[in-house]
Amino acid sequence: MENIRNVKISDLKNFLDEDGQIAQMNPEANKFARFLTEIIESASENYSMPLFFANTECVQIQNKTICNGEVEVGIYAEDNRIGWERVECEATGVISNWEGTIWDKRDYTLH
Ligand SMILES: [Zn+2]
Repeated sequence: MENIRNVKISDLKNFLDEDGQIAQMNPEANKFARFLTEIIESASENYSMPLFFANTECVQIQNKTICNGEVEVGIYAEDNRIGWERVECEATGVISNWEGTIWDKRDYTLH
């Protein structure tokens, strides 16, 4: 994970173990990994849509309360990465290497 101009770049492979499950990590990383996988599920279910809101809410804690803001999601056509934006927090990120994971809900019977 690295930060470039406040955009959080996440390679999902870094969060997974050999079985493709979320790896054992510290609670903060684990919480973030679950946030990413929920976004991936939403993104792959809405794969044909250019932009939509994820089925998850922002879990960022601000002023000791959970944000619960909406998370806007879109897929970059050129490289298939998933972009997300926490609307309330103005935090943004990009997820790569999510294809083929257990959270990839695209229907492969459609071609
Ligand atoms: Zn938020």
